[in-house]
Formats: sequence, structure tokens, C-alpha cells
Amino acid sequence: MIEKITTPVPYPEGTVNSYLLKDDALSIIDVGTKTSIALEAMEAGIKNAGYQMTDIEQVILTHHHPDHIGLIDAFPNAKVFGHVYIDAWLRRDPVFLNSHNDFYLERMKEEGVPEKYFGWVKKMTRSIEMLGERTLTDLIHEGDEIPGHPGLVAIETLGHAQSHFAFWNEKKRSIFGGDLLLDRIASNPLIEPPLNPKSKRAKSLLQYNNSLKKLLRLPIDVLYSGHGGDIHNVSELVNARLEKQHLRAMKVLSLLEGKPQNTFELTKIIFPTHYESQLGLTLSQTIGQIDYLLDCELIREETDSDGVFWYEKK
Ligand SMILES: [Zn+2]
Repeated sequence: MIEKITTPVPYPEGTVNSYLLKDDALSIIDVGTKTSIALEAMEAGIKNAGYQMTDIEQVILTHHHPDHIGLIDAFPNAKVFGHVYIDAWLRRDPVFLNSHNDFYLERMKEEGVPEKYFGWVKKMTRSIEMLGERTLTDLIHEGDEIPGHPGLVAIETLGHAQSHFAFWNEKKRSIFGGDLLLDRIASNPLIEPPLNPKSKRAKSLLQYNNSLKKLLRLPIDVLYSGHGGDIHNVSELVNARLEKQHLRAMKVLSLLEGKPQNTFELTKIIFPTHYESQLGLTLSQTIGQIDYLLDCELIREETDSDGVFWYEKK
């Protein structure tokens, strides 16, 4: 049995999907936002399916974003499964969390962002208030079969989040996709701090493209998505998303012809009307395209004496 439960989120997506799953175990995949209206909607959804919150045996998380993990406290009898990166968040690992401001400040400096915007560091650093109080009981790794759900296998699909898993059932040709692929909007490859503060930042867009390509290799008839409707044309949509991203990168490439630019200057050109109001998101997008162009060896990178990275077409 798969029962979709949709709860409201205080973001532009509007709602988030959870999936109640009954095999040998009764589990829920993702749990919505930590708000009272989301909790009400969740309780109504579980009741509608013929259960109570306390009946749920396992909470399985696709990634750590607050619209997916906020209500974990509402399932007191459930084990909680997720990526080791979620574990660091839920345990409020001090070394990990304390590194976040420094991480974003360093990124802004190397992106050439003027000092007057440095206050954005606080906005980029995700708050812990939207997290539940519980911690993970079990870590998930690539290829793990989820207990109580024969054939349901964890596929690590990083990019949108540094904690992202999709859960694929080969026999049923179905996958719970989290935010890997959404029907109406492209998923953002956000820049997030590494688990180990000494590690380099992950190249989210490259990770994300690789994760999308994993979908192309799996036989899938239906993808149960984290937001919006089910997706039946997975390959077609993946190819369209990859193609669109490539075209955007080619536009960015044309801006780097004959004149080196830094990430901030590029972001201003690409997003003239909303780079200031959505600095974190727009910088993330530009960094993604830069990483892609570097990976394709179409641009070169140089660092100036202030530590700012400059890019130019080869
Ligand atoms: Zn989401």
C-alpha cells in the first residue's frame, strides 16, 4: 500500500508530499514541515489511511531540508532512517554547525561579493528551529535495502542536498524521488557546507547531474515526487532538465568571452532583477554553471591577490 499525504509548507512550493508505505513494516517517507497546520494535515492524512501517528514504525527521510524532516517528533514510536549528513543536523553537531557561517563567508569572498552583502551569511545559514528534536536511529547507505520493505533500495542522489537519497523498487519499477526530480520546477543544486569543515565544498550541480543520470539507468515507470504530482515520463523529463541546464551554461559561457568575470558580477548580469533579494539562491545557480563549464574545460579560473576567483572562456 502506498498512500500519498500532502501537507502545507511556508515556501513557494506550497505543499510537500509524504508517502505512507505498508509492507512488512508501516513506514512514512518524509514528514513535512514543523508547523501546526502541517501537523494537522499530517494527522488527518494518517487517520484517513486508517492509522494513528503512534502506529508508524519507521520514518524514512529523503534529505535534511526542513520541509521534509520537520515533523519527526510527531512519530514517537518510529525508528528514523536517513543519511549521515542528516544525522549531523539532528544531533546539532557543534563542529559542523559552527562551521556554517565561516563556510558561507569564505564562499562570498571568493565569489567577489562586496562587503555590504556579508550580512547574507546569516540568511544562507539554515536555522535549526525548523528541525525536530529526535535524532536518527539508523543510518542509510548507498544500496541498503530498507528494513520491512523488501526490494526498496536506497540510491544516493546528492546535489539538491548533501544528504539526498531516493528509494527505488526494481520489481515495482517505482522510485520515491524526494526533490531529485519535480514535475513543474527544476530542483536547485544548493551550495551546502561539507560534513567535515576541512573538506572542500561539493560541486552541487555536477553531483545533481550525476544523480539525474542515475535515474536514466534505472527502469522506472513512476517517480513519487517530493512536491507536486507523480512523474511517469522520467527519462524524458531528466533529459529536458539536463538540456536546459546545458543551454544556460552556454549563455554563461558567452558572457565570459574576452572579459574575465567573478561569480558575483556574473550573477548580477544573469539575474539583474532578483540577485539582491535572493542572493544565496542566485549565487548558487551561477556557481553551478561555473562548475559545469570548468568540468567541460571550456573556461579557466584564476585567483587574484584578494583571493577572488575570476573566470574566462578558453
Ligand atoms: Zn523540498
